[in-house]
Amino acid sequence: MTREVHHYIGGDTVSGTSNRFGDVYNPAEGAVQARVALATRDEVTKAIDVAAAAQPKWAATNPQRRARILGKFVELIRENMDELAALLSSEHGKVLADAKGDIERGLDVLEFAMGAPHLLKGEYSDSVGTGIDTYSMRQPLGVVAGITPFNFPAMIPLWKLGPAIAAGNAFILKPSERCPSVPFRLAELASEAGLPDGIFNVVNGDRTAVDALMEDPRVRAYGFVGSTPIAQSIFSRAAELGKRAQCFGGAKNHCIIMPDADLDQVADALVGAAYGSAGERCMALSVALPVGKETADVLVEKLTERIANLKVGAYDDPNADYGPLVGRDALDRVRRYIGEGVDAGAELVVDGRDLVVPGHEAGFFIGPSLFDNVTADMSIYTDEIFGPVLCIVRVSDYEEALKLVNDHEYGNGVAIMTNNGGAARDFAARVQVGMVGINVPIPVPIGYYTFGGWKASGFGDLNQHGPDAFRFYTKTKTVTERWPSEPSTGAKFIMPLGDQS
Ligand code: NAD
Repeated sequence: MTREVHHYIGGDTVSGTSNRFGDVYNPAEGAVQARVALATRDEVTKAIDVAAAAQPKWAATNPQRRARILGKFVELIRENMDELAALLSSEHGKVLADAKGDIERGLDVLEFAMGAPHLLKGEYSDSVGTGIDTYSMRQPLGVVAGITPFNFPAMIPLWKLGPAIAAGNAFILKPSERCPSVPFRLAELASEAGLPDGIFNVVNGDRTAVDALMEDPRVRAYGFVGSTPIAQSIFSRAAELGKRAQCFGGAKNHCIIMPDADLDQVADALVGAAYGSAGERCMALSVALPVGKETADVLVEKLTERIANLKVGAYDDPNADYGPLVGRDALDRVRRYIGEGVDAGAELVVDGRDLVVPGHEAGFFIGPSLFDNVTADMSIYTDEIFGPVLCIVRVSDYEEALKLVNDHEYGNGVAIMTNNGGAARDFAARVQVGMVGINVPIPVPIGYYTFGGWKASGFGDLNQHGPDAFRFYTKTKTVTERWPSEPSTGAKFIMPLGDQS
């Protein structure tokens, strides 16, 4: 019988009743390995009921105690790393080492969130007026939700969960229906770590579940990560409903290669950043901008040599550099874009479309592709392909490269490869992108900084993880207090003034 993944509500598995299921594939085999229950509105409401009932007690729990539970949770995730990575890889397709990286980057943020006792501290000013003091405190929002994509089934749910619950909220996760098993296991492990029932709930589902989460007035904030059109629509919807949202979308990350860069290092960096995880990363580098003809010619040669040595294989093949795409639809989309690039006149230097992995003929594999002489009007340049395709756009100077980056619709990540400190400094100051790498191809900030793109890559004022996450998941309350020690001098009718009242 096909394995089924259901919901995790109130500290227990709750079987879905909709009789609607999504298929969960093993992308290396191209076959369905499980099915996931798609929640009804009532099931989502039940999760919100449970979360709302559990949250006040959790919010009143000493933050250090909350942090200790997170610490135990971190420990349990590490103890179960092999099992979690295998589960993650089997549904996503990424190789095991990369799946462990996915989980580790999630733990990075849980560990940061353990600093809640410090991060939640308010400010205090005494004697703002005669006998009057003012202090501020950060309070949780109540019930908050995370809606997450398929491509980091552990990391992104943990980025949302950690700060949200450390701050005293109850959290409902609606993970991607393509990779539901790891989020479910994480919820089980959180219970085992001592998290009270109802503080971390997982409802699986599709748009019906998201709509139910949006429409319930008790859910106060949404941390969304996924494609740009959905990010934008959830952000607008939340604003209409007077709720808080931070919504992170798609990307097209550029890398400028200056003529003084070490091109062997650059080629190694680009191959890893463009093709790792089959390009299914929002921080994947998908456009290279070599400055000058010689830089471009040498770079294409070095990339071509390295691509020939890449190994594509199933997630449990220890020699594989990357695995299959997540689904048949993704494979069709990437192949379609490559066809469009060829039709538009780009030079397809390496064509990965027909790759077959022996023993995995039905898997959703695609080889690495490299385009040269791409121009800014081509769909392979304008659109997020989300596959192992690297486009080279030749530029004559740094200003032309910078303009391309700044004019692009997306602004998630970017890199410059150079030995020129002046160029790098100018680049960091003027580039219109949220996360910048200087000789670092995938500049994903560490958990105690914040992560977020600009332009169509991110909607909302606050970023993910780091101090912003605590600001996002809390409200500030400011208290002005006076303890009367002298008799009243009568009513006052002017605005209280700090230094005179
Ligand atoms: P997706 O937009 O298809 O799905 C994301 C989530 O939204 C899933 O939980 C899905 O069930 C839900 N969803 C889908 N359609 C919906 C609808 N109509 N209404 C409400 N909810 C809906 O994205 P995906 O394919 O899972 O993930 C890949 C995308 O995520 C890429 O564009 C990638 O760049 C982006 N991404 C961005 C970041 C970032 O931080 N900027 C990080 C990772 C992934």
